[in-house]
Formats: sequence, structure tokens, C-alpha cells
Amino acid sequence: MDLYEYQGKQYFARFGIPVSVGGVADTVDEAVAQANKVGYPVVVKAQVQVGGRGKAGGIKLATDADEVRTHAGNILGLDIKGHVVRRLWVEHASDIAKEYYASFTLDRGAKAYLGMVSAQGGVDIEEVAASDPDAIARVSIDPSVGFTEVQARQLVEDAGLDAEALDGAIGILLNLYRAYVEGDADLVEINPLILTPDGRVHALDAKVTLDDNAAYRHPEWDDFRDIDELDERERLARSKGLQYVGLDGYVGIIANGAGLAMSTCDVVNQVGGSPANFLDIGGGANAEVMANALEVIHSDPLVRAIMINIFGGITRGDEVARGIVDALGRTGITTPMVIRLDGTNAAEGREILRGVESDRVISNPTMLGAARTAVELAGAAELRGSEQSRGAR
Ligand code: GDP
Ligand code: MN
Repeated sequence: MDLYEYQGKQYFARFGIPVSVGGVADTVDEAVAQANKVGYPVVVKAQVQVGGRGKAGGIKLATDADEVRTHAGNILGLDIKGHVVRRLWVEHASDIAKEYYASFTLDRGAKAYLGMVSAQGGVDIEEVAASDPDAIARVSIDPSVGFTEVQARQLVEDAGLDAEALDGAIGILLNLYRAYVEGDADLVEINPLILTPDGRVHALDAKVTLDDNAAYRHPEWDDFRDIDELDERERLARSKGLQYVGLDGYVGIIANGAGLAMSTCDVVNQVGGSPANFLDIGGGANAEVMANALEVIHSDPLVRAIMINIFGGITRGDEVARGIVDALGRTGITTPMVIRLDGTNAAEGREILRGVESDRVISNPTMLGAARTAVELAGAAELRGSEQSRGAR
């Protein structure tokens, strides 16, 4: 997961890395309010996940509220390399004596971490790497040993940072390394890391990529999720803790396990249908989870039929069936659905489902058969109609 600059700065601050005071704004008025709060002069910064915002006109200094109004108005809605600006970060402006660069990332080939520092920051580091590779000092770090103060001192001296910046930069590098390792990031980058005229070292930009494989041990990362980019269905699903991805079709899919959910999407496609979503309910197919899943799918007006595909393993088919019956009672959903139960206690489960079966709730023991029925239920005529309305979506 890539963080926006303002999120990266919040992340850095937790690890003791100095950043400027500021606040986010989604409108011009909010930008002015934030500027008044942090104190002038301020920098108005486009929040998009792409580099070179400065050159693209996405970063502007403002000395008073009128200037903030002008710049915020220009930057909101600006298209920077295909990313439309919807949010701003407004921070107290810094005086800059020098712009440096610092980062930690993974060197897969060497099975080590790579630390990099340069006295030529502020600009595109790839350009520096290409035109003047010696301007970037590097250190390879054995993950089992860690990064020491001795290495940090060597790194900033190799990079040729100014004498008055050395101690501050070393402190930041040690904290940046902690942010990288303890924070479970794949990349942490500060460009520019500045030296102020009064001798302080300070992060003026933040680029952070978190390692998604570590998400399970970071509930606090939920705050970083890009809620704005989710559609209504995904927002609802997330609020209910479901693994849901919205798609453009009309057959709603509920399956247990990501692999089975993916195969279900494939099979629906194979028989001429089009999946409306990918929804993995995981191991716990109880009534609560099932009702939540049905509710999320039901919130999509284009869903014409639902296919529930459960393979009982540790979760038993009879429990799943009871969950489905219970969920049907709770949600009162009338969308036609096909249920395919297989695996542990599937026969008992199907027996339980018999109590709710109708021409709108159909049990089918095979995946392919169930997919065919789901697509039939969606209806050929409605199917064409819904595809036209998808185009307008
Ligand atoms: P990027 O272009 O997307 O990497 O955005 P940055 O946050 O790195 O900002 C680009 C450039 O804007 C920096 O290298 C600085 O030269 C300038 N800049 C950003 N913040 C300030 C600030 O507080 N004061 C001053 N004087 N310049 C700033
Ligand atoms: Mn930058």
C-alpha cells in the first residue's frame, strides 16, 4: 500500500522524524482554515501518489489567505500525470538552506536492505543516479544485524552532507530505519530532507510504501486506506470487515476462500455471465457473516442473481446452510440465488436448505451447474439491459 505524503508524514512523526505542522483540506475553504491554523507562510501541496508534483504546479507557497485561496483553487482538480487532485496538504513553510535525499528499501538481489543518502536532494533521484551516480552514498544492511549509528555516520559523511547537518541527519536516519523495519515498510524515502538556515534537519516530503503482507499485524493501517477511491459497495463491505472487490457484472458472488472466489468468477464468465463482485467470506460462514455478505451484494442495484459457493472444510456444510437460512430471514432479500454446497457435511447442509428452496432460492451441487443456473436466473433480457447501463456507469 502506497501512502499519500500527508499519511507518510503522520507515519514518520510516530517514529520521531521531524515534519512540519499542517493539515489536510478537500476544499478551498478548508485550505484557508488550515493555513490560518498553521500560520503563514504556508505551502499548499497536491496529494497525489506520483512524484514531480512541484514541477507540475502542484506545490505552491502562499503568504496570506488570498494566495492560499488562489493556489488551492488552481491545484484542486488539477491533473498531475493522470492523477486528479482531490485533497491538499497545507503546512507551515520551511526556509531551506540545503536539500538532501535519504531512503531505505529492499535490495532483493543482495538479500539485504539498502540505505541511500545524497547531498543532491530535491530533484528526481533517478536523474542524479543517472548523471552523477557517485553523488549517492549507499550502505548494504544485513537485516539480521541491523543499522548502527556508526553506519549512519559513515553514510552521511560519504554523501558529503554539510557539517552542521550531520548529527540531525544521523538521528533521522536511525529513526527512518526503525520506520522501515519496525513499521513494516517496503520503502521509506525523504526527498527533500532539508537543512534549515538555523541548522535543523527536517523531512519536507514523505514517500512510504507499506508491506501488504504485514497488514494483519497493523490494525492502525486501516486509517491509511484510500476510502475516497472506494465505491459505495466497497465502503459498506469494508465497514463489515469483508474481503470485497466490486466488478462490473450482474452476478453477485459469495465464496469461502480467495481461490474459490476467483474460480467462481471464472466459471461465471465461462458460462457467459459477468461477475458483479469478488467476495471472500473466509472460514467463518456463519449467519452474521452471510447476512453481511448478502447485504453488501444487495446494495448493488445491478445484481440480478447471486451465486453462493461454499466448500466445507473446517467450516461444516450444515453450519453454512443454517447461516444462509438465518441470513435470508434477516435480510429479506428477494434477488434470486443459487447455492452450491460441497465438502464437509454438504449433504446435511443441502437437507437444511430444502426448507427455504423455491424458484428463487435454488440449490445446485456442482459449481458449473450452479453458475449456469445463476446466469439463467439473471435473465437474458435483463442481462442485455444491464450491460447497456454499465456503459453509462
Ligand atoms: P515533489 O515535487 O512531488 O517531490 O514534492 P516535494 O514535497 O518534494 O516538493 C518539491 C519542492 O518544493 C521541494 O524540493 C522544495 O524545493 C519545494 N518546497 C516544498 N515545501 C517547501 C517549503 O516549505 N518551503 C520552501 N521554500 N520550498 C518548499
Ligand atoms: Mn519530493
